[in-house]
Amino acid sequence: MPYYQLARVKQDVYRITSPENVFMELLIGSDHALLIDTGYGFGDLRSAVREVTDKPLYIVNTHGHVDHTCGNFRFEENVYISENDMDLLRRHNQASYREYSAELARHTINWETGQEFNGLPEDFDPDRYAEGGVGHICPLREGMVFDLGGKTVRAVSTPGHTRGSISFFYEEENWLYAGDAANMFLWLFGRDAADKETYIRTLDKIVALAPERIYGGHAPKPFSLEDVAMFKRAALEADYDHGIPFSTPIMPECTDIRVCILGDKTMEDIGKPGFYAILLDRSRGTSC
Ligand SMILES: [Zn+2]
Repeated sequence: MPYYQLARVKQDVYRITSPENVFMELLIGSDHALLIDTGYGFGDLRSAVREVTDKPLYIVNTHGHVDHTCGNFRFEENVYISENDMDLLRRHNQASYREYSAELARHTINWETGQEFNGLPEDFDPDRYAEGGVGHICPLREGMVFDLGGKTVRAVSTPGHTRGSISFFYEEENWLYAGDAANMFLWLFGRDAADKETYIRTLDKIVALAPERIYGGHAPKPFSLEDVAMFKRAALEADYDHGIPFSTPIMPECTDIRVCILGDKTMEDIGKPGFYAILLDRSRGTSC
């Protein structure tokens, strides 16, 4: 079985995923193709893309986190990312992060069966991966348009999850590719995130765009505007004092994170319909 799975959404539009369940998007126009995010990049993502298109390739990162950018080094092409996330990108592409990500992937859990498996490809080269670097990065700005030929994709600044988060609006279909900017388990903590008010303005901006579908970087199915309304409620009604303590090894300095779940759901419901949570640190949990 190939390491990267390409699911056809419509003609010349694919969702790409790998065993650790990060989604990347590939849109192919008559002149250019566009790859949105590069995942962890454990496998040969370039070859997976080149199996379905030989068009000149634009590559963009929705934000700088490790699971959206570490595949940049697989490509010779430029990779566009917000300047506001470039420091984050550089940190998350250091060898120490890459070695840690690979170690986690070696012990990937299948969420349906609970079984642990090695989520790395058979030909994984740990030394090459560790020294992969950030790729050929260049600045991505709000309003930049990627004209693929019959498919037009516009960059929309959506800060919150990170200060430099950018979403991509596919104008002909009215679809938004949001990375982690809108999510049912929204991380909003640490030095790289924006404040809660900025995140709420981003949700309002998404509503004003009125996309018919919103594709997230970790969601198998697209979100709707009804989901976005619930993301906003989760942010507005977050009760930090009663939140569930949380930590992540990629941000060990964040010791005051709490999961604030909307309504009467629990962590047992994560991933199920109706589950909406926001993860805040103390400063953001008490800011609104
Ligand atoms: Zn992220």
